[in-house]
Amino acid sequence: MRDALPLGVLVLLLLGAATVLVGVLCLATAGLRGVHRFLHPKPRRRPSTPLVPVPRRYVWLACHTPRCGHLETPHYPAGPGRVACDHCGVVRPAP
Ligand SMILES: [Zn+2]
Repeated sequence: MRDALPLGVLVLLLLGAATVLVGVLCLATAGLRGVHRFLHPKPRRRPSTPLVPVPRRYVWLACHTPRCGHLETPHYPAGPGRVACDHCGVVRPAP
């Protein structure tokens, strides 16, 4: 029972020493990483080119003709402000 106090103090000292050792290892690792990043910096990314909006090639419109019925069909540009149905060819004003 007399040896319990010195043994407890010794255990606490060993735990403290182990904690200090882990802290020193973490600091050394962080320092080495910092040195590595300083010596080998990452290449900078080039700014990407801005996206150019793709022009709308056709629009889906309800045709309302006997051939197409009331289905929505693709209408392609047919001159300024006009579109033509891809199925029946009817030209109408662009929406
Ligand atoms: Zn049509």
